[in-house]
Amino acid sequence: MSFQLFGLPVSRGVAIGRAVLVSSSRIDVAHYFIPAAEVGAEIARLRAARDAVVAELTTLQEDLPGDAPAELSALLDVHLMLLNDETLHTATKLWIEGRYYNAEWALSAQFEVLARQFDEMEDDYLRERKADIEQVVERLLRAMARGSPRLIEATPEPVAASATNEPLVLVANDIAPADMMHFKRSVFTGFVTDVGGTTSHTAIVARSLDIPAVVGTREGSRVIRQDDLLVIDGDAGLIIVNPSDIVLEEYRFRQRQRDVERQRLSRLRNTPAVTLDGEPVEMLANIELPGDASAVVAAGAMGVGLFRSEFLFMNRGGALPSEDEQFEAYRAAVLALNGLPVTIRTVDIGADKPLERMSVNELRHEHALNPALGLRAIRWSLSEPAMFRQQIRAILRASAFGEIRLLVPMVAHVGEALQTLEAIARAKQQLTDAGRAFAPVQVGAMIEVPAAALVLPSLLKLFDFVSLGTNDLIQYTLAIDRGDESVAHLYDPWHPAVLQLIDTVIRQARQAGKAVSVCGEMAGDTAFTEVLLAMGLRSFSMHPSQIAPVKQVILRAHSKRLLPLIAGAFHGDDVWAGCERLRAAAAGRAQLDAQRVA
Ligand code: PEP
Ligand code: MG
Repeated sequence: MSFQLFGLPVSRGVAIGRAVLVSSSRIDVAHYFIPAAEVGAEIARLRAARDAVVAELTTLQEDLPGDAPAELSALLDVHLMLLNDETLHTATKLWIEGRYYNAEWALSAQFEVLARQFDEMEDDYLRERKADIEQVVERLLRAMARGSPRLIEATPEPVAASATNEPLVLVANDIAPADMMHFKRSVFTGFVTDVGGTTSHTAIVARSLDIPAVVGTREGSRVIRQDDLLVIDGDAGLIIVNPSDIVLEEYRFRQRQRDVERQRLSRLRNTPAVTLDGEPVEMLANIELPGDASAVVAAGAMGVGLFRSEFLFMNRGGALPSEDEQFEAYRAAVLALNGLPVTIRTVDIGADKPLERMSVNELRHEHALNPALGLRAIRWSLSEPAMFRQQIRAILRASAFGEIRLLVPMVAHVGEALQTLEAIARAKQQLTDAGRAFAPVQVGAMIEVPAAALVLPSLLKLFDFVSLGTNDLIQYTLAIDRGDESVAHLYDPWHPAVLQLIDTVIRQARQAGKAVSVCGEMAGDTAFTEVLLAMGLRSFSMHPSQIAPVKQVILRAHSKRLLPLIAGAFHGDDVWAGCERLRAAAAGRAQLDAQRVA
């Protein structure tokens, strides 16, 4: 049956592929691909888990006291029967052999198929048997975790395509940012989730993968089935399930058109970004792991404006990376950039980026009353002084191999800034005492809390540069959770309060002679390029794939065209109407550009 679903468009382009459902089991399940050579070993893990659970349940049954309720013994019988039934085992094996899923993923994928079959049963008694299968699957997952847990690397090797060689699209209720990292170099050609907002970290990672994605569909993972054919229209936020041949052909045509357009844009790689009125603009890139550096160089970026170092801290079962491990990672990024500057942000753990793999929902509900306002970013680092100094030392040591700038996330208070600078001074002293080399490093603050924007002159006295984190700045200015799809329509970067704060920060930083850039998603959104230029911004940091389209707009822009409209909006008597006019003027230009491309 063909039908459509709508969500929030978060990563552009068209993806066509078979749906792979990632279940939302109560147990945290790792999803990754195994090398073809390990299929046998993975099946053996599955078998070992089954043997362990059979032994566990048999012992349990034998040890039941004589007066135990008969239902208990009957229940154990049912569970043992399910475990010994070859259907579950054989079907799970097929996911491992055919798709190279790890055993846990294969098991949860098969559970998903069975659960739907049970949901559709007319008979109440049979329908309720789904709970038994769920319990058995959970026992198996636990047994696997106890048995031979695999250590998942933060940067898995690229994996072979699925055995069927068909493109795959991932469908999930939610994908934690840490899980997204596993998919970084995998075969998925698109993502669909039920929850999330346009600047949630899951969406950001999807954009960094340059893969079409739609989030916030609310019910995607419930109504889409394993192996359904999906078209993801990442521009419109549309998912077409089991499309007709005509629709499919139309979207294949669009895919080809986009490839041609990309190739055309890639020719801008070595063209300097200079506006029509001769203003040079610095184009920087955002990365999550050192391995992303090659894409930065390929895109012709002038350096890294934001290295989200927290991704080095994820998928490690909560263990922190050592100073040497971090040093190696930072040095790898610096060496790959070959003389271009790398801005490393100190760890921004918390909110929708927990240390351990965990869904955003779990995090929201179980771990903190209000994680976005809790112990995250610099607050967390300052509460872990040994960890923080270790990270700073690793960053400083890497500075001996190329230009590094150190960026501090979520500063809101001068006290935090002073404590951070003190930690940096201590780390430097420790390195000097140990005879370790490091170079001078500029220190900057992310401006992503309205409070920081409003006390900027005081912060500018302490820092060498600032970088606007517009994703959080919008979230905190408008009191809209950036990861919550139910309020996503209110997450409005065009809100006059947001625009005024951005304008203030750019103006005051420039007046103070300090470098200022934008590294939030706004920097890579061509709708804002001319507005930011007119506010005086000359440094943009974005996903490597966004560099060419933004550069194209810069090459055709006059840096002051929108200045009168900005001044009129902020100094007129109706700031709201003024910003609407600004938005319309910026959109008019974007439309013109789109027509020219067509
Ligand atoms: C931001 O908030 O704009 C930013 C760049 O940081 P992050 O998205 O990682 O919170
Ligand atoms: Mg931020």
